[in-house]
Formats: sequence, structure tokens, C-alpha cells
Amino acid sequence: MLFEKSAGAVVFRKNKEIKFLMLYRHAHKHYRETWDFPKGNIEPGETIKKTAVREIEEETGISKIELVENFMEKIHYHYKRDGEFISKDVIFFLAKTTRQKVKVSEEHDGFGWFTFNESMKKLTFPNSKKILEKAYGFLKNNKLIFQKSLAQF
Ligand code: ATP
Repeated sequence: MLFEKSAGAVVFRKNKEIKFLMLYRHAHKHYRETWDFPKGNIEPGETIKKTAVREIEEETGISKIELVENFMEKIHYHYKRDGEFISKDVIFFLAKTTRQKVKVSEEHDGFGWFTFNESMKKLTFPNSKKILEKAYGFLKNNKLIFQKSLAQF
């Protein structure tokens, strides 16, 4: 059994409404068709936050990003690569950007900015949906998305 550890982030931007960034990958060799968040392997000597920020930049071209304090969630899954079982942990942060323009790397085939409900429908893996639910709940609880409407009362 091999072990892998990656880090990534639920990237969002807030305009009139909040939108989440999803990356798309066609099915190929080891992978099914996927909509998921930016993420990637932690390099030696790198902190998990650094990995998340680096992977966001590499996979989306977005370098102006702010990690939201106090949000960190882990998922775990197994997969098989060339006959070898891989046990994998992925740590997700929550990252805010004001940028809309995205340039995907060769690892992906597309992207989209989606509302919470649209994202829940798009996301391929149930554990990613759980992360998004937690991220959305966190934003609501910390009044990070409804500040404007609350201010009206
Ligand atoms: P990374 O983006 O961390 O560098 P990778 O692109 O090498 O990773 P994964 O995205 O982990 O690889 O995909 C490896 C296998 O695990 C694929 O078969 C993929 O479909 C599956 N997989 C990816 N994400 C999940 C998940 N959240 N839950 C279950 N299986 C997943």
C-alpha cells in the first residue's frame, strides 16, 4: 500500500452572489470524468497551506488568493494505480479571490464558477460535496457571505 497526501481549496468569489470554482477533467486511463476542486501533492518541505496556494495558482492561474482562517477539512479515499493500492488524504482550505479569469493547466479540460446548488450537482465525489457543504456552512456562520443583506436589518 502506498500513501499520498494532497492539499487544495474550495475557491470562491463574491459578487452579487457567491460562486465556487470547479475544475473539470475528461475521463482517461486511471480517472473517471470529474468535477472537483483544485488540489495536488504536497512537495517535500512545503506546508499544506503553501501547497494549496501553489496548486490553485498552477491549476487555475489565480495568484491573488486569500485563505480563510480556521477552515481546514480532510477527506480520505483509496484508489488503484498500476495494480498498487493508494491510500490518500486530501486537506482542503477555503480560499477567497476577487479574480474571475481562469486559465486551466494541462491537467484539466475545463472549469466553471457555480452557485452552491449548481456546484453540489456538478461535483463528482460525495466526500467533495461534504467539503462544499461544510465550506458553505462556515461562510454563512461566519457571516462571510451575507454581510450585505444582514446590514439592511
Ligand atoms: P492530485 O490532484 O492530488 O495531484 P491526482 O490527479 O494524481 O491527484 P486523484 O485526483 O487523487 O489523482 O485521482 C486518483 C484516483 O482517485 C482517480 O481514480 C480518481 O477518480 C479518484 N478520486 C479522486 N478524487 C476522489 C475523491 N474525492 N473520492 C474518491 N475518489 C477520488
